[in-house]
Amino acid sequence: MKEVAIIGGGVTGLEAANKLAQLGYTVTIFEREKTPGGHVAQWDRLFPNRRNSMEVVNEFKSHLNGNPAIFLSTAIDKISRKGARFTLEAKGKSFDADAVLIATGFELFPAEKKEEYGYGIYDNVITSAELEAMFKEHGYPVTKSGKQPQRIAFIHCVGSRDEKVSRPYCSKVCCVTAVKQSIEVKEAIPSAEIYCLYMDLRMFGPGYEDLYKEAQQKGVNFLRGRLSETSELEDGRVLIKTEDTLSAKPLKMSVDLVVLMVGMSPAEGTSELIAGLDLKPNKDGFVEIIDQHINPVKTKAEGIFTAGACTGPNNITDSVNAARSAAIEIHQYLSSK
Ligand SMILES: Cc1cc2nc3c(=O)[nH]c(=O)nc-3n(C[C@H](O)[C@H](O)[C@H](O)COP(=O)(O)OP(=O)(O)OC[C@H]3O[C@@H](n4cnc5c(N)ncnc54)[C@H](O)[C@@H]3O)c2cc1C
Ligand code: SF4
Repeated sequence: MKEVAIIGGGVTGLEAANKLAQLGYTVTIFEREKTPGGHVAQWDRLFPNRRNSMEVVNEFKSHLNGNPAIFLSTAIDKISRKGARFTLEAKGKSFDADAVLIATGFELFPAEKKEEYGYGIYDNVITSAELEAMFKEHGYPVTKSGKQPQRIAFIHCVGSRDEKVSRPYCSKVCCVTAVKQSIEVKEAIPSAEIYCLYMDLRMFGPGYEDLYKEAQQKGVNFLRGRLSETSELEDGRVLIKTEDTLSAKPLKMSVDLVVLMVGMSPAEGTSELIAGLDLKPNKDGFVEIIDQHINPVKTKAEGIFTAGACTGPNNITDSVNAARSAAIEIHQYLSSK
């Protein structure tokens, strides 16, 4: 039986593995972390319908029954071609395969790179991923001193659409995540005052616009403006300075908690991983696909396929669709051999 290796056990890798095993291949997933599920396993409730993320992860995981098999805590650091086969290397061990799917996903933008926003300096400046962790743990956000915040600012486009930090692209999911999280905060703390500071609102997916309307109905305030800087007040609150770009007026506001909507950056180590196959990342640092419209899951290297967030920012629906598409392409490739 022909063998397929999948690098990355997020929703993309898990779903591609499931489909390839159904098609009759021997499939092995290599996952760097101790548990499968990738980033989705870190979220609490998902947009657009606020379903529990573990429901989705557990559904994809339920197909891991020997074929597909998964090696956890196994980071692949090298891939090389050996005739018509490939060799993958991890921690001094090597594995062979007839085709490889790169599904290494993304990293969160390191918010400390935007030093003027105060992440890592001020206690009450957190990221959207940390807010998800708070929802998972207590069902509501807390300030550093353990209190429920009454005034919260969500800052859009942190590490996205920003040439200064070499991230000129839009991360696609952070507008809707901010809207979803602002509704969740309102539900948990009805008296909370919430401000979303955005450049443009990009609510591109099904159900996203409805979430935006719901947030407005629940009293979330949307201000068009880009944060210039934050500073800490003596009582631990954060002073934010921005300009309301609709009224062209400078704005200063003190809040209990600032949530930075961090963007999706290329996964660490992936460009080094593909370098062994003479593949270069695209201009934003993600894995390059052959053709956006006609061939979105193939790379320039024969036998090497790619899907999910390692090719650029996307949501779960896009990732799962790409995973299935990659499974079909791999099947066609291996059947023609
Ligand atoms: C804050 C935030 C909230 C979000 N909320 C939602 C939501 O509610 N709904 C929604 O549809 N989408 C949401 N998304 C998007 C969603 O997280 C992605 O679409 C999804 O995670 C992509 O899955 P993936 O498997 O491609 O990548 P990942 O989830 O990043 O998984 C990739 C996996 O590959 C592993 N890996 C990486 N390199 C290696 C290596 N060299 N060797 C072995 N393993 C490796 C990683 O450890 C990881 O487990 C959100 C994104 C963000 C940033
Ligand atoms: S989705 Fe929204 S917050 Fe995220 S980068 Fe695009 S415009 Fe900015």
